[in-house]
Amino acid sequence: MEDPIFSPPLHRQRHQFVIDFIKRNKPQKVLDLGCSECTLLKQLRFHREMELLVGLDIDGATLKKKMHGLAPMSTDYLQPSDDQLRIELYQGSVTQRDARLRGFDLVTSIELIEHLTLADVERFSEVVFGYMAPVAVIVSTPNFEFNILFPGKTGFRHYDHKFEWSRAEFKSWALKVCLDYGYEVEFTGVGEPPPGQQESVGFCSQIGVFHRLGGRAVCNMMFCDDAEDEFSYTLLYSKNYPSLHDNNILQRVLVTEVLSGAEKLRRKWAEETNGERDAADTQAEGDWEERHRASEQHLEMEEKQTDVFLLVEIPSSEVEISVNQMDCKTLQQAEQQRGFWRSIRKLRKKICFGLMAEDNRSLGKCVSVPLAVLWSGCPKVRALGGSLSNLRQLLMDHPGVTLSQDGSAVLLNDQEHEEEYDDLEDSGYAEARQCSHSVEPEEDWDANV
Ligand code: SAH
Repeated sequence: MEDPIFSPPLHRQRHQFVIDFIKRNKPQKVLDLGCSECTLLKQLRFHREMELLVGLDIDGATLKKKMHGLAPMSTDYLQPSDDQLRIELYQGSVTQRDARLRGFDLVTSIELIEHLTLADVERFSEVVFGYMAPVAVIVSTPNFEFNILFPGKTGFRHYDHKFEWSRAEFKSWALKVCLDYGYEVEFTGVGEPPPGQQESVGFCSQIGVFHRLGGRAVCNMMFCDDAEDEFSYTLLYSKNYPSLHDNNILQRVLVTEVLSGAEKLRRKWAEETNGERDAADTQAEGDWEERHRASEQHLEMEEKQTDVFLLVEIPSSEVEISVNQMDCKTLQQAEQQRGFWRSIRKLRKKICFGLMAEDNRSLGKCVSVPLAVLWSGCPKVRALGGSLSNLRQLLMDHPGVTLSQDGSAVLLNDQEHEEEYDDLEDSGYAEARQCSHSVEPEEDWDANV
């Protein structure tokens, strides 16, 4: 009945009040009493500083129906938090003690106490302020004085309310709690009355914000007693949110970062190398044309059997190809010879481009990206890895990553040039490639035995 006259609706204003308090005070352990459909808890799980978020309600059926809405979402798995969040739901009564709910930073009780008998409110005070003894408590409850502004409404706002207090009644209860259990309280509320009526009727929902005198230090002292632990609530739900503190999750995120960082570097290097190589190729093409022409002249002049040695030069190695020329007397044979030169020229290009031997970054079909380069170039890898040796260890244990034998580099498949290698293999010059570079010296197991 109360919401239509408020915008945003009153229940949202109450929850927003709690959220604003949490943003200012950053409690790490929060307990919501009478959490009902878990609406407030669902909003609070987005607060990253939170470590433990717990709900308690006497109504187990509602909790069971709504608890799955607290499960992590796909984005929580894709971008796991740096922090550890655990959510728990208990079924039980605020009039009973349970040691698992002691020592929280904040306990909220939003529109709960009016559902208790006055005798139970006394027990609530003792359990919450005396036994749970959190650092702060937020209690909201209807302000009976405001009800005159609900036209045509008599009695309480909800059939299950056992009472609705005036501001004076609420204040008297709150001050007694402070005296009995060592808290101080500020009064406020949400749901503004019409202009000019604040003093006469007050807020629609009145709120007391309690702080323990002496703060966290006093709370900690309280829990040093050796009183026997009591457990009267039933745990219905508990979930650890995906966190980088979980080693498996950290490893998964780190591997993704490392592989994408390494891939970016591979592309960058390939672009750089292609640029340099295009320039070098233009020069080399000229040389080849000259040699080609010279050899053709040579063929025409020397109409006899001769051996021609062709030296294919690539940056850090040489592939020597011997061509045995037999009886190149006819035009047809000369044409064949010309075709051969052309394919040699093509082969040379492929060898240079594919192996990238001069900078040692690419070896055979693998591109080797040193971890130290990733470490210095990717802040996220640094943040996740912690240290270079830890990074190496995490990658070493992961099946999705291939490290070099000494563990100093990530090896990526050089997909960009794989087709060219395949062409080379088809053209029968695979040996030339193999003799130039082997990717990683294969361990000779037989020799070790
Ligand atoms: N806090 C919620 C809902 C309040 S309705 C919100 O802000 O929307 C009151 C809730 O208190 C109900 O879910 C009811 O089941 C719960 N409740 C009533 N008596 C209780 C008790 N003794 N112990 C715990 N929860 C209780």
